[in-house]
Amino acid sequence: MRKLEFRSDTMTRPTPAMRDAMRDAEVGDDMCGEDPTVNRLEAMAADLLGKEAGLFVPSGVFGNQCAIAVHARPGEEVVVSETAHVVEHEQGASAALSGVQLRTVEPRAASYLTAAEIAPRIRVDLEDVHIPRTALVVLENALADGTVMPLDAMREVRELTNRHGIKVHLDGARLFNAALALGVEAKEIAALVDSVSFCLSKGLGAPVGSVLCGAREFVRLARRRRKVMGGAMRQAGVLAAPGIVALTEGMARLRVDHENARLLAGLFSSIPGITLDLASVRTNMVYCRVRKDGRSEQGLVDFLAARGILVYPALQWGLRFVTSCEVDEDDVRALAAAVADYMEV
Ligand SMILES: *Cc1c(COP(=O)(O)O)cnc(C)c1O
Repeated sequence: MRKLEFRSDTMTRPTPAMRDAMRDAEVGDDMCGEDPTVNRLEAMAADLLGKEAGLFVPSGVFGNQCAIAVHARPGEEVVVSETAHVVEHEQGASAALSGVQLRTVEPRAASYLTAAEIAPRIRVDLEDVHIPRTALVVLENALADGTVMPLDAMREVRELTNRHGIKVHLDGARLFNAALALGVEAKEIAALVDSVSFCLSKGLGAPVGSVLCGAREFVRLARRRRKVMGGAMRQAGVLAAPGIVALTEGMARLRVDHENARLLAGLFSSIPGITLDLASVRTNMVYCRVRKDGRSEQGLVDFLAARGILVYPALQWGLRFVTSCEVDEDDVRALAAAVADYMEV
């Protein structure tokens, strides 16, 4: 029986067009800048984001950590939401690899940090020997709870950081989902930050990789950093080729994923005992809670697993269901029906 994959869009498998592109990719030694396919992917990504240059890196974590290393020196501070991926899910890499101090802040007004929340944490008074210098703010868009940070909120952070000469890196693992939800081009988001990384390997469907984009000098330094982190590859065109397919053909799929997520949220909202905030469903994620005596979130996960429907255990925001090209509208309806069964409606 086919399993229905609602755990994550990281589970997407390469399309036949991606497999073909991998087989046919023209390659060279990327360590010497001679892989034409990698060069094409980097140029395409930079162009899409309106940045001067791009760098193909093995993963989203890699892109974030490269960026932090280039923007901040050891001992400097990076202001970031305490729920950010770089804080929660990168094994303390910023401390281990760059020696920076993460100044984590709890977002209270929204799921992202506002300029008003960041402002009191900024420290740039180098006359006082006690004080570390704030070098960087890291933002995320889309956010891990499936919501998006509005452009105005990003603009306020940009204005604040500009006043203090501080850089901004955007962890845009799902940047194109955010752009779609906000109804803007990805480059309008990217214009508000100094560097941005996005994953080819999530909803866009490529098997491997992220691209880190920014100014030419930033990317030159990030390329040096990629080498010392062991992330420089040789004939990497076989990995970049499906990334190019992702950027050309994978984009359209995100719209379908968002529609499927909205459909799922609508179906869930009519099931008594399932609670969710419909307005929070902006991308390809639906978070919900089980609120009924005798029923539990883990109970639901186990019930679904027995029916071949895959879901991760509940996170801090509840149970997460992610739509991707691995599931279609029928699968969404099948999932909702199974949830209704569990809730006995
Ligand atoms: C997935 C993700 C990453 C990391 O990407 P990997 O390719 O898994 O290393 C970073 N940030 C956010 C917000 C993510 O969702």
